[in-house]
Amino acid sequence: MAKGVAMPIIRATCPTCGDVELTPRDLKVMVCSTNGEATYGFRCPGCKFLVSKKTDKQVVEVLVSSGVSMSFWRLPAELNESHDGEPINYDDLIDFHYLINSDDWIIRLRDELNEVGKDIES
Ligand SMILES: [Zn+2]
Repeated sequence: MAKGVAMPIIRATCPTCGDVELTPRDLKVMVCSTNGEATYGFRCPGCKFLVSKKTDKQVVEVLVSSGVSMSFWRLPAELNESHDGEPINYDDLIDFHYLINSDDWIIRLRDELNEVGKDIES
């Protein structure tokens, strides 16, 4: 922002503190390039908590034209994968914890995965 030019004031709402006043540098717009959903976020000047709110294209345009930075992200490709079998549970996690505490854990894990592969094939 050039010297002598007033910084725009943006009013936003913190769920704890209510309405707060911010400058464009205090906010960030994030747009998901996969589905186009957008959010803006800021650290509340009152309570210091991070606040994130879903917003629409019109608000994104106003914020960006006011000098708020924008970044893009995408949903992980794993969301499109198909998954078979039961989800892992606490017992699986404990078993894995004990497994990786051994010196030969990578060999034992490989052997166990090979056994699982044999079970699926038969
Ligand atoms: Zn707050």
